[in-house]
Amino acid sequence: MEADILIIGSGPAGIQAAIHASRRKASTVVAGKPSASAAAGTEVDNYFGAGEISGDDLIAKGIAQAESTGAVFVRQNVVSAAKDGDRFRFVLDGGDEVVVKAVVIATGVSRDKLGVPGESELFGKGVSYCAVCDCNFYKGRRVVVVGNESEAAVAAEMMTGYASETSWVHWNLEANPVLVEKALAAGVRMYGSKPASIGGDGKVESLTLEDGTVIPTDGVFIELGARSSADIAMDLDVMPEMDDSIKVDSECSTGVPGVFACGDVTGKPWQVAKAVGQGCVAGTNAAIYVRGAR
Ligand SMILES: Cc1cc2nc3c(=O)[nH]c(=O)nc-3n(C[C@H](O)[C@H](O)[C@H](O)COP(=O)(O)OP(=O)(O)OC[C@H]3O[C@@H](n4cnc5c(N)ncnc54)[C@H](O)[C@@H]3O)c2cc1C
Repeated sequence: MEADILIIGSGPAGIQAAIHASRRKASTVVAGKPSASAAAGTEVDNYFGAGEISGDDLIAKGIAQAESTGAVFVRQNVVSAAKDGDRFRFVLDGGDEVVVKAVVIATGVSRDKLGVPGESELFGKGVSYCAVCDCNFYKGRRVVVVGNESEAAVAAEMMTGYASETSWVHWNLEANPVLVEKALAAGVRMYGSKPASIGGDGKVESLTLEDGTVIPTDGVFIELGARSSADIAMDLDVMPEMDDSIKVDSECSTGVPGVFACGDVTGKPWQVAKAVGQGCVAGTNAAIYVRGAR
């Protein structure tokens, strides 16, 4: 699929960016799952003019507004991103490819934790939430990737290019079968049981599963849910901050031509009002970037 702009994220920031970009006649695709927005399932009571409104209502109405001016919502996550000359190429978890001239990163702040003993104690000592960021540290070592979705499949396949041994632990596999096949073909060893604990004395040494299996390992990559904003940013030559947020200027530009960001992903305050304000700026400037007119 080709378009002017891809907006990654269908929460308040991404939807507002889509409304402004599509009103400026830029062909706009929005990737991401609205149900995974931080606003989904919440009650928002401090948003200008709305009184008390459910986050789900806000999102549904916003999507309808954006669709009415031509934005297309694909409801799939981005699993990989790359710069290709003056274009950007993205692969979605359904396997589709999207090629655009500009991108708006509106992925919010989510880095799902596994919630098992050893995870927080060994974070940074073998536990990682970002395969793309940390793969280089695991050259010739053993790693386990944990997760059920396509992002875990992509991370596992990628780690085979670095690690001496790559295992993939899942317990409710929902990854795209094509990506699973690719991981298997690359030599990834699969385990089908939920992690129970991460073990190690000052550094990761093993992962124990609920079925009692103990996998000796040097690294545990927790890849739950959507690909993180940090991973996507780095694919696009944008260096995330230490806390994985993406720094933008007053135009919501990341400094890389054609790459904009808005909403929670740019840092606090994590609020709908700030997300839609920046969404307006990012969507408008992305449209100006591709269409060259104010
Ligand atoms: C319990 C709770 C209550 C809240 N109450 C309020 C309140 O009362 N008032 C208020 O102003 N704010 C409130 N917030 C905060 C508010 O929900 C957020 O500030 C707002 O949703 C941020 O919007 P966003 O678009 O930046 O990010 P999000 O809404 O989190 O949207 C991010 C989107 O990016 C998508 N995404 C992530 N990774 C990928 C990927 N790899 N590919 C494709 N898509 C991806 C996600 O699926 C999601 O659709 C609350 C939050 C919570 C959790």
